[in-house]
Amino acid sequence: MKRAKRLEELTWEDVEREEGIIIIPVGSVEQHGRHLPLGTDSMVAIGLAEEASARTGVPLAPPLWYGWSPHHMVLPGTVTVRPEVLEELLYDIIASLSEHGFKHFIIINGHRVVNIPWIQLASARAKEDFGIEVYIFDPAYASKELKIGELGHAEEIETSHMMVLKPELVRKDKIEDSSPEESFLYHFDPASPKDTLCYIPSRRKMEELAKKSGGVNGKPSKASLEIGERYHEHLVARLVELIERIRGV
Ligand SMILES: [Zn+2]
Repeated sequence: MKRAKRLEELTWEDVEREEGIIIIPVGSVEQHGRHLPLGTDSMVAIGLAEEASARTGVPLAPPLWYGWSPHHMVLPGTVTVRPEVLEELLYDIIASLSEHGFKHFIIINGHRVVNIPWIQLASARAKEDFGIEVYIFDPAYASKELKIGELGHAEEIETSHMMVLKPELVRKDKIEDSSPEESFLYHFDPASPKDTLCYIPSRRKMEELAKKSGGVNGKPSKASLEIGERYHEHLVARLVELIERIRGV
């Protein structure tokens, strides 16, 4: 496989020769049950960015490892950054890179619905202020046609994807399923017609899940390498397609 092209490994002369497209992976450092590492969301975004970069030659910027995770603070190791801070950080990164000729920014979001609002706010401002294009690529939305398991947390999908990306970090002996009560108002599975996108991160549900299943929401026991490979390949293909479309403009 060709290597990913990382911005931090280039020189300024390399950047001068770039075509103007760049990927920024965004994730979180938060509890992912007893069987997945804290960095799962970031690793997922980075893994997709690296593969798309290797296949297309588009560089990836250093990732934003942290996300907005107040609802996961009930379990140790979680780091939450205020969304207004994250918004400013992403805005400044885009501002800097747009000054150096980048015009198309692909933000890969590994932290799902909770990261989207501040990415949207930063992107809208940056588009307006610098005349650039931003594309938010959210794996949960970009894969809903696959219909592979229900979206939750540290569930079948994330566990399968991590079996592809970081198999050595998946502790299979610690996998535990959970089935929390369905919420009346919030449903955050893009593949479901009930999806509301109105989820407000809160500790309460997670406190319950922490006690029940060590922070898992869903059925990680159904995870497999085969599901993970299908999911990963689908998402990378969509990223490559997006990059080809940008190049065709
Ligand atoms: Zn996650």
